[in-house]
Amino acid sequence: MDAKDRLRRYLEQRRELGESELVLDSLSIDDVMKMVGAKSSASKGGSASTTAKARAQTPVDRAGAAPSADAPQAVPSAPVVPPPEPGVRFDEGTTTDWREALRNAGAVRPSESLSPPAAAAPESADLRAANAMPNTMGEALVTDLPVWLSALNLPLGIEAGRLRVIDAAPDVAQLPTLVDIADHVAGCTRCALYKSATHHVPGEGNPTADLLCVGEAPGAEEEEQGRPFVGEAGELFTKILGAIQLSREDVYLCNVLKHRPPGSRDPLPDEVFACQPYLLRQIELVRPRVILALGRFAAQTLLQTTAGIGALRGRIHRFHGVPLIVTYHPAALLRNESWKRPTWEDVKLARRILDASPPASADTTAP
Ligand code: URA
Repeated sequence: MDAKDRLRRYLEQRRELGESELVLDSLSIDDVMKMVGAKSSASKGGSASTTAKARAQTPVDRAGAAPSADAPQAVPSAPVVPPPEPGVRFDEGTTTDWREALRNAGAVRPSESLSPPAAAAPESADLRAANAMPNTMGEALVTDLPVWLSALNLPLGIEAGRLRVIDAAPDVAQLPTLVDIADHVAGCTRCALYKSATHHVPGEGNPTADLLCVGEAPGAEEEEQGRPFVGEAGELFTKILGAIQLSREDVYLCNVLKHRPPGSRDPLPDEVFACQPYLLRQIELVRPRVILALGRFAAQTLLQTTAGIGALRGRIHRFHGVPLIVTYHPAALLRNESWKRPTWEDVKLARRILDASPPASADTTAP
């Protein structure tokens, strides 16, 4: 691979992570892509789930998703890229940023939290200040942590979860079980996706799972079967779960969107806004000990941020007080073997938090 190809591949990866600038020269990735003769993002083709299909699947070894220590690194190590500024567009294919759409539609800014903070526990101001990461609105996160979480001494991230399902969709807030949510989704017309989708894909798994995993939207195979994560990326994700001694039946699997966007295109702000109450209610009912956000759509939706995966990984965020870990989408791993190792680190982190956490109880604030 010559230098130009390496650079192009590297830039494609940074862009896929939701990042738009290189720190040193502030050039936009699209400008650099044009300079090296690559396609602009407007013409980059299908979403992660569709483009993954077009490429060869990377074999995963029998031990699971962890790559071997000497796995070839296809790209230079990534520079530290700060989270984008507020208002940075998430995707060239959409007309607005969906967090902005949510806020315009009445979602509450983090500074106007509707929910009381999660269980208070002593934590030094120094630690909190050192760990605090500004969110996209530039506010430092200084809420109290449970003792067990603070004892892990891991970097903290975004404190999210101000949108309550009762405010977003009172009818959804009253659904008593996951089965009721699935039934409701089956007849859902909250956005236009029901018109093109052949099946709804509400989610599945252990209704009292300790780990709840959130992806982006069903792909073609998921739509066909009405089940999340059953395609190529799903098979890989099942292996990843196995690597931390969890099966699909142990966890709860769902997506931000419950219907497949036509052609598996990226979700639109209106669709995310319309579907979000279902996800909130699922989290509320399952009451997981840890949430694993797979890919930037899930991470950015739950954390209400425009920050890219690179900035969000490796930290303990919290969603309504529930620890939330961000990792790459399994479809991205099919395209980039070099992301398997960081993914392995992320799921190990989720496992570590699971092992340290007390059973879900009154110490987490439900959405
Ligand atoms: N990608 C997702 O985000 N979810 C699925 O269910 C399948 C692929």
